[in-house]
Amino acid sequence: MPHALAPAAPTQPPPPGARRGADKLPAPVRAMHRLGLVRDIDLALHLPLRYVDETCLVPIGRLREGEPAQVQGVVRDCRVETRGRRQLVVHLADASGELVLRLLHFYPSQQKALAAGQCVRARGEVRGGFFGREMVHPEFRVVAPDAPLPPSLTPVYPGSAQLPQAYLRKAVASALARAPLDELLPAGLAPAGLPPLRQALQALHHPAPGTPVAMLEDRSHPAWQRLKWEELLAQQLSQRLAQAARARRAAPAMARRPADLASRLLEVLPFALTAAQQRVVAEIEADLRRPQPMHRLLQGDVGSGKTVVAALAATVAIGAGWQCALMAPTEILAEQHFRKLVGWLEPLGLTVAWLTGSRRGKARQAMVEQVASGAAMLVVGTQAVIQQDVSFARLGLAIVDEQHRFGVAQRLALRQRLPGPAPGRPGLQPPAQGKSPADPPPGAGAPLAPHLLMMSATPIPRTLAMTYYADLAVSTLDELPPGRTPIATRVFADGKRAQVVARVRQALQQGRQVYWVCPLVQDSEHLDLQNATATHAELSAALPGTPVGLLHGRLPAAEKAAVMAQFTAGALPLLVATTVIEVGVDVPAASLMVIEHAERFGLAQLHQLRGRVGRGAAASACVLLYSTPLSPAAKARLQAMAETGDGFEIARRDLAIRGPGEFMGARQSGDALLRFADLAQDDALLQHARELAPRLLREHPQAAAAHVQRWLATRAEFLQA
Ligand code: ADP
Ligand code: MG
Repeated sequence: MPHALAPAAPTQPPPPGARRGADKLPAPVRAMHRLGLVRDIDLALHLPLRYVDETCLVPIGRLREGEPAQVQGVVRDCRVETRGRRQLVVHLADASGELVLRLLHFYPSQQKALAAGQCVRARGEVRGGFFGREMVHPEFRVVAPDAPLPPSLTPVYPGSAQLPQAYLRKAVASALARAPLDELLPAGLAPAGLPPLRQALQALHHPAPGTPVAMLEDRSHPAWQRLKWEELLAQQLSQRLAQAARARRAAPAMARRPADLASRLLEVLPFALTAAQQRVVAEIEADLRRPQPMHRLLQGDVGSGKTVVAALAATVAIGAGWQCALMAPTEILAEQHFRKLVGWLEPLGLTVAWLTGSRRGKARQAMVEQVASGAAMLVVGTQAVIQQDVSFARLGLAIVDEQHRFGVAQRLALRQRLPGPAPGRPGLQPPAQGKSPADPPPGAGAPLAPHLLMMSATPIPRTLAMTYYADLAVSTLDELPPGRTPIATRVFADGKRAQVVARVRQALQQGRQVYWVCPLVQDSEHLDLQNATATHAELSAALPGTPVGLLHGRLPAAEKAAVMAQFTAGALPLLVATTVIEVGVDVPAASLMVIEHAERFGLAQLHQLRGRVGRGAAASACVLLYSTPLSPAAKARLQAMAETGDGFEIARRDLAIRGPGEFMGARQSGDALLRFADLAQDDALLQHARELAPRLLREHPQAAAAHVQRWLATRAEFLQA
């Protein structure tokens, strides 16, 4: 797991052969390096997948069928039999009885090793064969008759084909003896009953005979608990350190003035803010007034009106003389934001720029220059906004929409790009009008960090809020704009497809607009496209005279934008689309959505998709078509969709169905952040670490720093992303 937490490099001699250059290293060492096993501590934390018990021998006469066992005996006879399948049949005997070892695949060297008279130790499952008891393909080796038994269970490590277990076992054992694992924390701070780290690792690599292996394998053993607690503590400490570091940074204080841009935007908006919107705008404004960087998440259900809140925050920043960047995860969404914001802000005299991956060459260069000169006050785009060549003249506020859709690496890039210009670039200086003479920012002279506002329709589960987002302020939009009618959600088996098409026809005749969402094909854009094209043809044939649009990820950006624009304008009544429409797309006139193969989608994704309808005053409906057989989880998801339209309730159910690991896990964020602890299981350890962290920082800052350094040096930045 190359992305998992790796403890910091302790000072130690390079691994054997390192000086000779990587290409000259022995193959197993290179194989270890490929697994990230370079330093002693890496090996010490490379934990067994499972264990085998080689600590005792079972007399052959007492073997029980169906149970794994280790025996030792002398080979009486070894021959290749060719009746039926060619195989090596070995008769092994000890004082209590005789056993057949049967090898269906074997090398001549093995045949030689198992010659009559050899003393052999073999381990495998005992079966009752036709000719008596036997082991098929046991593990075996030739031993001296008095060879000692190992004193502990034998670890089986995750490895690779080029890396023999025996080699890995030796490497781990010697690294474990050398690794710097002494206690860094004052005694008595760990939860009661947990062993010290060195002892814990010793117990995990070389468990004493009789250790309950099930507790090792399900990670509930105290040795595991110790490791997890250490990891969680490091994470809590680093969060707090990051928070403190952020609090020490200076950010532009953005005071509002009477009749400023934000007030003028409020006047030109075609609607009044909901009470919830007013409240969160006030919370954001209060943050922006402070000379420390805002670090706030705005969460609000799909359709709760986050965009206008972002626009107001942007006008506060721009009104105070700063630039604002707004990032969205997809081009379609970025484009839609751009159009909406241009509509709202250009009449107020603001320049809005547009930067996405598909914008290249001269057009891009012109934009980049506008951003660098400060002429572009608001820059809307995809992650192209944070590419290396984009540098803001005076970025004061960064807004990330649908932030959970950005991977950890992207969030990290964002952080690294945002906190002010890189060394060598012109410093970020507050413009004259943004300066508040009465209140000079702390750390004056250092580059100012921009404020950060993240937005998401997916509320953060409690355990995650306590870990990764411990230092995040949260604003919640708990109210939808008025006049929305709930979306009626119906679930149908795919056999009812004809009826669903009839319903679409009826809706179109009533002048309604319809989305038809094509199934998700895991990891295959190609099949996604095939599906969408086939559905488009099918619906075009079934609905003669109706223009049917087609939108998918492979379309060039300009064409995507053109199709979307036609749909938005009402010129296309029916749009067949892949999940490119999933997030944020806002076409209020669309009031019916059909989702094919709904069982393949995740719950959050279904809710996001459904959120594309129900945005106007018309009563809206969502039809979920599914194919059988349904897995229990898929059934639970469809049921949740049918039963509730509340995004927070959906998130709770999603968490219950999936567990927090996967909720935030590798698939979604592109990175697994905790290597040992599991937020679903380790709530108590997390609580403990969370309560201890501030005390440790206060009373033993050096021990705290050493602990973080040991665990996270290379990963701390990821944990804060
Ligand atoms: P989301 O929170 O999902 O991003 P949007 O910002 O896209 O939601 O808003 C959904 C729709 O509601 C948009 O068409 C937006 O213009 C509209 N809207 C936002 N706030 C209000 C309001 N206070 N009154 C009426 N309509 C609003
Ligand atoms: Mg949105």
